[in-house]
Amino acid sequence: MRLQGVGVSSGIGMGAAYVVEEHVVDASKKDAGPGEIARLSRSVEILIDTLDRKAASLEGEQAEILGSHVLLMSDPVLLSDIEDIITTESCNGEYAVDTVFEQYAEVFRQSGDELMMMRAGDMRDIKNNLLAIMNGYELPDLSAMPKDSILVANELTTSIAACINATLVNGLITNLGGPTSHMAIIARSMGLPAVVGIGAIEHGDRLIVNGDNGEVIVNPTEAELAKYSEMKEERRRKIEALEKFRGLPSATLDGKRIELFANIGLEADIVKARDADAEGVGLFRTEFLFMNRSTTPTEEEQFAVYKKAALTFGSHPVIIRTLDIGGDKEIEYLGLEKEENPFLGWRAIRYCIDREEVFATQLRAILRASAFGKIKIMLPMIADIRELRHTKTLIDRLKEELTGQGYAFDRDIAVGIMIETPAAAVLAGAFAKESDFFSIGTNDLTQYVMAVDRGNQKVAKLYSEYNPAVLRLIYHVAKEAERQNIPCGVCGEAGAKPLFTKFLVGCGVSELSMTGASILEVRSIIRQMTLADTAAKITASIEQLADIEDSLTLLREL
Ligand code: PEP
Ligand code: MG
Repeated sequence: MRLQGVGVSSGIGMGAAYVVEEHVVDASKKDAGPGEIARLSRSVEILIDTLDRKAASLEGEQAEILGSHVLLMSDPVLLSDIEDIITTESCNGEYAVDTVFEQYAEVFRQSGDELMMMRAGDMRDIKNNLLAIMNGYELPDLSAMPKDSILVANELTTSIAACINATLVNGLITNLGGPTSHMAIIARSMGLPAVVGIGAIEHGDRLIVNGDNGEVIVNPTEAELAKYSEMKEERRRKIEALEKFRGLPSATLDGKRIELFANIGLEADIVKARDADAEGVGLFRTEFLFMNRSTTPTEEEQFAVYKKAALTFGSHPVIIRTLDIGGDKEIEYLGLEKEENPFLGWRAIRYCIDREEVFATQLRAILRASAFGKIKIMLPMIADIRELRHTKTLIDRLKEELTGQGYAFDRDIAVGIMIETPAAAVLAGAFAKESDFFSIGTNDLTQYVMAVDRGNQKVAKLYSEYNPAVLRLIYHVAKEAERQNIPCGVCGEAGAKPLFTKFLVGCGVSELSMTGASILEVRSIIRQMTLADTAAKITASIEQLADIEDSLTLLREL
């Protein structure tokens, strides 16, 4: 049987399902007798004892996480708050536990402090564990997990994640979570293939997890097993073979140097990007810093992350994209209302210009971080040159403000734009005169050129960056950038696709930004191409392309 979820951590994993049961406990209010406090105390003791034992068998960060749960569970104020409710309301312990933990979690959530907000998630995790124990359940014992398991859970909580022994697990599957969830982050940092959005898997089922396309095969046939084993082996061989390109210059045979950058979204990605041999960061999707929380990150919080990126990459560029929300990226507390056509609505630069307090806070944080490395500012979704001019004026005003306050920053910080609307692409010549650099966002550019919602399955077959209309615009934008002598990059998915590499470089694109895993492969292609030949072939045929097949023929011939 084949199930389709969303791949959030790449690779292929095979093994037997190890299902971590989640016990749903009724915490509604009920009348209760005098034994409730004793029942609560016993359960707390069991929980602390269980966590202590687990922590003793673990090391480092994993042991620390469980230790912090023990500490929280031993807090006398928390416990007396729970007991007070039981006593004054003569109610069941479950209700009291749920009420107090939720109150604490809310305080953490409201604090605005990143660490405290993470604790809000921990509170829910600890609460569920305590409620389970109060109802006679045991906490999952991952130490009994056999080798070559696929861990399956409704949600990957911190207490489960802390107990994962990566040498026993070949993959992760959860029902809840998304590409930016805890689960995805943990899976990627452990290098485990992972898929979210899959339920209904039985303990012991034989599984194949394909973290690249979100596919899960349950109880595969011999033929399927053989096919995926071969795919896995091939993937391993390919990754191994590409290692020889680590540390080598990304230059064509005729000497054109191309910058290969990484796309990042989370603080944890900064170090991973460097480890992937990225020569800088070409797209820092800062909206992730605004997600999974209930207030906007403060200037200090943002500054700390941008500074870390700047310091990690030293003299190499870090291109920070200002907040790109709206469209399919909703953030409740930012006050974005449902719109008829969100992708055509109040998103990205449009939102930021209207909400200057949010925009100025972010720009100040970026400017301050620019004192620590080579930061560039990139504006998303620009469609009208006035948006660029308005933002540059705002940046100039903020520079004055920061100078007055005694802050250091890079006075010559580059301000560039994403080319992802047809308007900006068509007028690239005019934009290039007022912009320090371009980066083509092929994901949105394709969506807007083709008039296809990039998330709508019904029209998905029309969404292709191989459409000649997209190729022609890329060519045009790169040429206009060249004419004005400003660098032009590509940071949409096309930048990571090996089939696209020669075309982009041949058009005159000088920087490609992609997921870290693609860097060595793209470098291997650049090092085997001759720019002059490729450029000539493109110029000879770009205007003749009529359909996707024509584009693919050209890309394959390059
Ligand atoms: C793009 O549109 O190509 C892009 C890189 O931005 P995002 O995918 O974040 O919209
Ligand atoms: Mg975009």
